[in-house]
Amino acid sequence: MATHDLPSYLDPNHLGPWGTYLQQVDRVTPYLGPLARWAETLKRPKRTLIVDVPIELDNGEIAHFEGYRVQHNTSRGPGKGGVRFHQDVTLAEVMALSAWMSIKNAAINLPYGGAKGGVRVDPRQLSRGELERITRRYTSEIGIIIGPTKDIPAPDVNTNAQIMAWMMDTYSMNEGSTATGVVTGKPISLGGSLGRTEATGRGVFVAAGEAALRHGVNLRGSRVSIQGFGNVGSTAARLFHEAGAKVVAVQDHTGSIHCDAGIDIHDLLSHTQSHDGVAGYGAADAVDNADFWRLDCDILVPAALESQITAANAGDIKARIVVEGANGPTTPGADDILTERGVLIVPDVLANAGGVTVSYFEWVQDFSSFFWSEDEINQRLERIMREAFAAVWQVAADNKVSLRTAAFIVACTRILQAREVRGLYP
Ligand code: GLU
Repeated sequence: MATHDLPSYLDPNHLGPWGTYLQQVDRVTPYLGPLARWAETLKRPKRTLIVDVPIELDNGEIAHFEGYRVQHNTSRGPGKGGVRFHQDVTLAEVMALSAWMSIKNAAINLPYGGAKGGVRVDPRQLSRGELERITRRYTSEIGIIIGPTKDIPAPDVNTNAQIMAWMMDTYSMNEGSTATGVVTGKPISLGGSLGRTEATGRGVFVAAGEAALRHGVNLRGSRVSIQGFGNVGSTAARLFHEAGAKVVAVQDHTGSIHCDAGIDIHDLLSHTQSHDGVAGYGAADAVDNADFWRLDCDILVPAALESQITAANAGDIKARIVVEGANGPTTPGADDILTERGVLIVPDVLANAGGVTVSYFEWVQDFSSFFWSEDEINQRLERIMREAFAAVWQVAADNKVSLRTAAFIVACTRILQAREVRGLYP
């Protein structure tokens, strides 16, 4: 097909996370057997909505923001995936994030398709009132395609339980009835689930433990570097620290810090609560952001944004295991460099699936109006993560492929089997 016959988002020159995702699909296609006939489905998001989000700022001006909700695939169930507020969010990025949700949900075998949303805004520049107005107007605009059985948003970068409460309220007011199941990651007082806030970080920690066990690294005493100290990075850091690993370096949007003897994570958490981030933390050395990638460690956890580990820095990484807390942190070029050097990569669609797994628990609890204990939730989460890890590990060994391609084999097979048996309509 000539390039001009392709939809714009399939243009091979398209760089960024969507391009990364397309390459990942190309890598799995040879392993799909007869289902490969349907593989093109994975390269075309089912439904893409771009919305204008106008609000009145506190100073009386009218400001317009760009919002998106992309439902990548709904073959196996309703759309599911977070909402991101970030100044650099683009449609192509949200498309990639929605596609990774399809893969993640299928890899872990949750009865969901994949979706994602975003608003192109820096929430740090907004007052609480402005943040609430943006959230409510965005929710109202995407209200035509979301719903408890259609597409269920959740927190992601820069969104939290309060924002989910406003989303749930806005949707419910528009519908005329309280619909707790329309979003997950809600406050506990509103049908939220115990353990949901820590779930992604806890899953990252469990996945790291499984990888360490199989790759000859003793978690106790191991040195861990973490990029990102938001919900995912800080929870994982605390669990590593409590398990006797040493968190030797942390990077966030304010800078990078390093301490070979290990950083006291509880102390760092109290620093970040009163400051903007890790910068200025007294009990560790400040290091250059570029040098962060060269620091000596056993386990590296990218838990911030996409495309952080690239062909430019992959050769410098000292870690033996990379556990992807973020979505899409490693480019395909970097994937190859690390794999060639014997670095084990636990891919995002497996490593960070703990969040959406407990979102699923929350959705099920909301539907049955029966709530589980935190112990029960954490036990079920750990079991699901361990079993998914073992299954993907086996597929990787059987096919002699990376864990990423193995996770894609498991997930794409499930999605395309559902696609095929449902058949084309009309
Ligand atoms: N935003 C999270 C993710 O990327 C969670 C999504 C959810 O719970 O639906 O997996």
